[in-house]
Amino acid sequence: MTGPATAAGRSRYGPGPMVRRYGNGATNSWQKLRRIPGVGKVADWGMGPVAASRKTKRVAARIAGLKATESVCPYCAVGCGQVVYTRGGELVDIEGNPRSPINQGTLCPKGSASRQLVQQPGRLLTVKYRRPYGTELERAMDMIAERVVAAREDGWQDRNDEGLQVDRTLGFAHLGGATLDNEENYLIKKAFTAMGAVQIENQARI
Ligand code: SF4
Repeated sequence: MTGPATAAGRSRYGPGPMVRRYGNGATNSWQKLRRIPGVGKVADWGMGPVAASRKTKRVAARIAGLKATESVCPYCAVGCGQVVYTRGGELVDIEGNPRSPINQGTLCPKGSASRQLVQQPGRLLTVKYRRPYGTELERAMDMIAERVVAAREDGWQDRNDEGLQVDRTLGFAHLGGATLDNEENYLIKKAFTAMGAVQIENQARI
């Protein structure tokens, strides 16, 4: 997450430019009408603050009072801006950031559902594997570790064709996915280089 924590005021994360363009015009005309002596009273009759019920006065926006933190959608390299709303450190909502020049408050279906990355109870938290014809998911980390070690040894080179010492493996490479951010790619680059890989690339630019 980036940017300082800021209370979600209407002015900062309020309606987008389209809403403001039409909404403010109507509001201004209404305010002008209300300022006309006599007419203003009639205009307000049954419609002003006195008409609001106690329940209405208690009602607040869904995001009122929440801490707002600007962030970037973790899914793809488009890098849409998000506003993450929390209460007491607990994630409550994630919406598109209207201040982002990339998405201007919008999010695609994946980005809109990114709260589930954290809170979806059915989300798998470990790597799973289903054998051919198998019916159950098994924990896959041991299998992956064994295959990495075997591929590393199979493709290991102490020296290249010119006799220069290289100490590397051509047994595996790494190609990053779109959801990887800079921090993840930093760790992946470190891990794969430490194992002797030389072909390491990613497409993440966020
Ligand atoms: S997944 Fe959707 S919301 Fe997220 S960065 Fe990509 S286009 Fe934007």
